[in-house]
Amino acid sequence: MFDRFNRKINYLRISVTDRCNLKCLYCITGDEIKYLPKEKILTFEQICDVVKVAAAYGISKFRITGGEPLVRHDIVKLVKMISDVKNVKDLSLTTNAVLLEKYAKPLAEAGLHRVNISLDTVDPEKFRHVTRGGDLKQVFAGIEAAKKYGLKPIKVNCVVKQNSDEPDAVAVKEYCLKNGLQPRFIKQMDLEEGVFGTVEGGSGGNCEKCNRLRLTCDGKIKPCLFSDIEFDIKTIGIEKALEFALKSKPEQGGRNLKNIFSNIGG
Ligand code: SF4
Repeated sequence: MFDRFNRKINYLRISVTDRCNLKCLYCITGDEIKYLPKEKILTFEQICDVVKVAAAYGISKFRITGGEPLVRHDIVKLVKMISDVKNVKDLSLTTNAVLLEKYAKPLAEAGLHRVNISLDTVDPEKFRHVTRGGDLKQVFAGIEAAKKYGLKPIKVNCVVKQNSDEPDAVAVKEYCLKNGLQPRFIKQMDLEEGVFGTVEGGSGGNCEKCNRLRLTCDGKIKPCLFSDIEFDIKTIGIEKALEFALKSKPEQGGRNLKNIFSNIGG
């Protein structure tokens, strides 16, 4: 399907939870995190209904995000349900890899194709600081497990302040090249201020070529990350929400005063 700017829309990013097992400084900016009540979070059946309709409309690429998707209970079952949907050609998951060592094998068996891993530094102390307590060893173990069970290509999302010449980004790039991983550098974004850039080494943030829609974990279909526009599948139904999102997709991103990164999955 194409939007009114003749961009081919074939990609749906699905946030399955607003919870996370890390608290990255640039994602969880305040001390207090207001999570959505559990009863508002979409069920697996509701998520799969959206995937079925989206796939029938021509969307073939699906990314599972969060928060941190691996903290969602029974996530392997959801991956299996989505991978069984006709026309799901590319099924990937974005994770901080803290739980990936445990889940890589069952996810691969359930039909997951590949993973994107969030990693901003390979310095254990800096990692612990940026994530407010994370253990880098768990991430490295998760990456090894993803390699072992064929969740490839493994792309690494590294958040930078300005660009990939920053010391931590250079070290992440070296680590990626040594381990056969694909690094991408994402300039720190600000939803409220509408600050974002094109992903270095990837396709995100390039509005002219934007191919994506988003499903929030509480059932809103959003045509753009940097916009307040959203349509609730629970009130107008999936088909209408998808159609309205496609029709109202902005030419380029502006500001988003409605969401926080932890409930929209970037
Ligand atoms: S800001 Fe919006 S239009 Fe631009 S790339 Fe992101 S989602 Fe697409």
